[in-house]
Amino acid sequence: MHIKIHLSEDEIPRKWYNLGADLPTPVQPPLGPDGNPITPDKLSAVFPMNLIEQEVSSERWITIPEEILEILSRWRPTPLHRAVFLERELKTPARIYYKNEGVSPPGSHKPNTAVAQAWYNKEFGIKRLTTETGAGQWGSALAFACSLLGLECKVYMVRISYDQKPFRKLLMQTWGAECLASPSPETEAGRRILEKDPQSPGSLGIAISEAIEDAVSDTSGKTRYSLGSVLNHVMLHQTIIGLEAKKQLDKIGEKTVDMVIGCAGGGSNFSGLSFPFINDKINGASIDIIPVEPTSCPTMTRSGFVYDHGDTARMTPLLPMHSLGHQFIPPPIHAGGLRYHGMAPLVSQAIIEGLLTPRSLNQMECYEAAILFARTEGIIPAPETSHAIAAVIQEAKKAKEEGREKVILFNFSGHGLMDLTGFDKYLKGELRDYVLPEEDLEKSLDAIKDLPKPDIARSGRW
Ligand SMILES: *Cc1c(COP(=O)(O)O)cnc(C)c1O
Repeated sequence: MHIKIHLSEDEIPRKWYNLGADLPTPVQPPLGPDGNPITPDKLSAVFPMNLIEQEVSSERWITIPEEILEILSRWRPTPLHRAVFLERELKTPARIYYKNEGVSPPGSHKPNTAVAQAWYNKEFGIKRLTTETGAGQWGSALAFACSLLGLECKVYMVRISYDQKPFRKLLMQTWGAECLASPSPETEAGRRILEKDPQSPGSLGIAISEAIEDAVSDTSGKTRYSLGSVLNHVMLHQTIIGLEAKKQLDKIGEKTVDMVIGCAGGGSNFSGLSFPFINDKINGASIDIIPVEPTSCPTMTRSGFVYDHGDTARMTPLLPMHSLGHQFIPPPIHAGGLRYHGMAPLVSQAIIEGLLTPRSLNQMECYEAAILFARTEGIIPAPETSHAIAAVIQEAKKAKEEGREKVILFNFSGHGLMDLTGFDKYLKGELRDYVLPEEDLEKSLDAIKDLPKPDIARSGRW
C-alpha cells in the first residue's frame, strides 16, 4: 500500500492549465465603473502587463518559466498522501488521498502564485510589490516570494490581526517585508479612516484600498499590487497542484477519481486541485467536484451570480461572480481565509455550468473533523482546510453505508500551526456555529442590486 506518493523534481509539471480555454460558456469580462468592459491598459497601473496577458489568455496550456520551476522545487512536487489512518478510523471502503500543500515554507498553497507573480513583476522591471493581508497567510507568502526574488514587499495588515496575531507578521518581517497595520497614516485612504476613528480595527477592504493606492501613486512606475486569490491568473498558477496529483495517482495505478474536494475562500486552492479534473469532466468523465465553504459566509450556496466589486472600497473592477455583496461583513469565524465575500469568476462560471456541487458546513463540524484528522493522520490542518476534511469525512461515511470503494481526492491547503488559538477555543468549548441570518444576507445583497447583471449562460450539458 502507498502511504506517500512522491514525484522527483524532473517530473514537476512544466505547463499550467487554463480552464478558461475549455469552459463551454466563457467567463464574462470585468466591467469598469461606467458598466463597459474594462480594457487591459486600464489595469496596467495596478498589475504588470505580462500578468494582465495571462489574466485574459485563452491559451489552454501556459509554459512555466524555468526560473519559477527552480524556485518551486524548494518544496515541490508536494507529496500526495493516502489517508490510510483516517480511513481505518472511519472503517470506510473509500480510498482517500490528499495533496499536502502545507509543506511549503509559509505553510500553504499560496506561495505557488506568490512566486509566479513576483517573478513576472520582476521580469517586467518592477522593484516593489504591495498587498493586503487579513490573518497574514497571503502577506507571508508574498513576503517569502519577494525575498527569494529580491523585490521589496509592503504588506498592509488589518489592524486587529496585526495586534492579535503577531506570528505571521514576524514571518513577513523575517523574510524582509515591511508589514504595517491598516489603516495606516501612509495613504490617503488610511488617513481618512484614522481621522474619523483613530482606534479603527481595520478591514480587508480598507487594506486593499491602501495597498492599491500605494502602488498606483508611486510616480517612478516601479511598484505594482498583488492579489492572492480570485483572479484568473492566480487560479492558473495553482493548477500545478492538480497536475501533480494526476501524475501521482497515475504512478500508483489509480485510474479514476470519483470525487475532488477543496475548501474555497476566493477559490484558488480549490481551483488548483480541481481544474485539471474539471477538464476530464468536460471530456466525459464522471466526477463529483465539491468546493466547500462555511455556513457563515455562504458565497456559493446562498448568494446570486452577479457583477460585484472585489473590495469594500470599490477600487477593483466589477467581476462576474457569486458574491454576498462587497459590503458584507463576515462573522468572526476562525477560518479567516474563507471569509471573503466573492468567488473566483472561473469557479463561479463552472458552478453556473453545473460542473461543481458547492457545499457549506458549520464551524463545529469542521473543528471536529480537524481534530480527528490531527489524531489519525497526525498533521494539524488550518481551520480553512478543515472544511475540506469535514466534507471528505461525510463522503467517506456515505461510501461505507453504500459499501462503495470510492476514490476521494482533496486538497490539504495548509497546516494550522499558526492558527492554534482557534483550536484552543474549540477545545475549551468556547466556539459555536454561526449560520448567516437571512435578513443579513438580504441587506448585503440589497446594496448591490443596482449594479449591472451578468448573463447566466450555460450549455445545459451538466
Ligand atoms: C488563504 C487560504 C485558503 C483560502 O483561499 P483560497 O483562495 O480559496 O484557496 C484556504 N486554505 C488556506 C490554508 C489558506 O491559507
